[in-house]
Amino acid sequence: MSKRHPNHRHVKIHYTYTVEEIANLFCKHKNTVRNWHKNGLATIDDRKPMLFHGRTLATFLEAKRTKNKRPCKSGEIYCIKCRAPKVPDGGMADCERVNEKIWNLVAICPDCYTIINQRVGFAKLELIRRKIDITMPLAQQHINESNDPTVNS
Ligand SMILES: [Zn+2]
Repeated sequence: MSKRHPNHRHVKIHYTYTVEEIANLFCKHKNTVRNWHKNGLATIDDRKPMLFHGRTLATFLEAKRTKNKRPCKSGEIYCIKCRAPKVPDGGMADCERVNEKIWNLVAICPDCYTIINQRVGFAKLELIRRKIDITMPLAQQHINESNDPTVNS
């Protein structure tokens, strides 16, 4: 099946592409290519049908890929709505325990006020705690004391 992020290396940079050819190249719908055009993928000129330089296409896809790949820095949580890593509103997050190893941070995006969350391991959680205030649930503060596995043999 088609990859989520089209690989710019598949583009021949000296070739001129139509919308349809680009769509076929990446197994995308033609509307996806038209959206890329709306989002900055430049045509060769204003004539119809639209034509795109391979080099322009490759540069556009590479930039798009890099942007999507931007990792969250410590203390940032990815906001799906803004499509970007965000420092939680007020520098605060709540923390829920998923299992022994995984914790779920829940916070609010400072820009769109959507609930954002991120699953982290305990080591990473400790790093993030230096950057933002994380509220640990009361019941989970004594986790080590209550950790008493009983084996029925
Ligand atoms: Zn947001």
